Amino acid sequence: MSNNSTSAYNWANGFTIDFSLATGMSKKGKSTTRHLSQMKTMYYDTAAADTILQAGDVLVYEFYELGAPDNAGDLAFGTSITYPGKVGDEYFMTKGHFHTILETAEVYYTLSGRGIMLTESPGGDVVAHELTPGCAVYVPQRYAHRSINTGDTPLVTFFVFRGDAGHDYGTIETKGYRKLVVEQNGKPTLVDNPKWSDA
Ligand code: MN
Repeated sequence: MSNNSTSAYNWANGFTIDFSLATGMSKKGKSTTRHLSQMKTMYYDTAAADTILQAGDVLVYEFYELGAPDNAGDLAFGTSITYPGKVGDEYFMTKGHFHTILETAEVYYTLSGRGIMLTESPGGDVVAHELTPGCAVYVPQRYAHRSINTGDTPLVTFFVFRGDAGHDYGTIETKGYRKLVVEQNGKPTLVDNPKWSDA
């Protein structure tokens, strides 16, 4: 994730990068991909996930990062692309994570598509922010965050946060989110996650 020695970018003196949606990034390097098989237990309807997987392991999301130095004073940034789709009535989403340094905020700016940034504090405060092109979302310190595509085109966001924050995926993988976003009567709706565990 963070590696001073292999970075192609001039973090010490500054640099310019083509950020024309995903295409500018894809010329620069490989994305990190997440297919359904890598996160099927995060969806509440695992039978629906299995049905999809029988036909093929679909790409749910991918992101490009630049390998920012692991320093508090540097900024990690990149693009995240969550594809449209559903597992049962639950929209395609990212795994979601806390930052390893929990006191780390992050900004997401929506370039295209439509969705929800679902945020949740360790104590259970749940806030759903709309992701709309041209709008930025401020994810505060201590909140887990997950992008959810509620539209029918790729949801593309630009993100930036401090370089040494790190990612904690394990807490969400183990406990899940308290809330899910599902389609009800054609609309995104926040519901309790039947699989959430406080264990
Ligand atoms: Mn983050």
